[in-house]
Amino acid sequence: MKQLENRVAIVTGASRGIGRGIALELAQRGATVVVNYVQNADAADEVVSLIHEGEGQAGAIQADVSEEDGAAALIKATTSEYGRLDILVNNAGITRDNVIMLMKPQDFDDVLQTNLRSAWLCSRAAVRSMMRKRYGRIVNVASISGLMGQGGQTNYSASKAGLVGLTKALAKEVGPRNITVNAVAPGFIITDLTRDLVDLTDMARDFAALRQLATVEDVARAVAFLVSDDAALITGQVLAVDGGTAI
Ligand code: NAP
Repeated sequence: MKQLENRVAIVTGASRGIGRGIALELAQRGATVVVNYVQNADAADEVVSLIHEGEGQAGAIQADVSEEDGAAALIKATTSEYGRLDILVNNAGITRDNVIMLMKPQDFDDVLQTNLRSAWLCSRAAVRSMMRKRYGRIVNVASISGLMGQGGQTNYSASKAGLVGLTKALAKEVGPRNITVNAVAPGFIITDLTRDLVDLTDMARDFAALRQLATVEDVARAVAFLVSDDAALITGQVLAVDGGTAI
């Protein structure tokens, strides 16, 4: 039997980048995966097709998780379609980088809403069903920017540091119901989010103790560990997947 067989997982923002990698990894380990996206239906369908080709189970659900109705609808559609929800990976995220003097309040609000509020909204909707089953695994995708701070990213770093606080507070709140809440903090990884910053790649590599950048697959395996039975007694933790950058 596969490690995550009979588990139903939602990965927010799974049409591209890190979320896509997490969806593929969880499906490969036997979970039925809901591939959430906000606008890129073709990319989400492609992830679902790849999972089906590997004889896994998956479906795509469109929802803007930064909105209360969107987050609630995603959880409701999942439990109606698949009968349960065991794993929630809050991965959807955006950047609106700029130095603080040029950053618009709207850039701050958009990033906080998509990166932090979405995780709070989805967790809030998901724990109701998890508490009833006395089982749940929540993983928030933070960032080393939330641990170390990053110039030009006051909004993004604040949102990711907020996710760390959310992770620890929720872990305490829902722990008695056998629900774990953890975070991963990836270092710099080349995806659509960072493609324009490619000049930074060499610099990012130099900062990593291992002199290597982590990949989407490295993050996906860390998430798969945190949602597995091997991590049953791990909660409220932040696992940096960054080649030793944050240290
Ligand atoms: P990406 O390639 O730009 O993909 C972003 C994903 O989020 C897409 O699937 C997008 O869906 C989805 N999304 C955006 N807003 C959404 C919303 N309101 N509702 C639902 N889905 C939404 O980004 P990435 O690099 O994979 O980043 C994924 C996560 O890892 C983010 O939280 C990011 O902060 C974090 N992270 C990234 C890095 C890095 O170096 N790349 C490092 C540390 C942490 P559509 O395709 O429909 O637009």
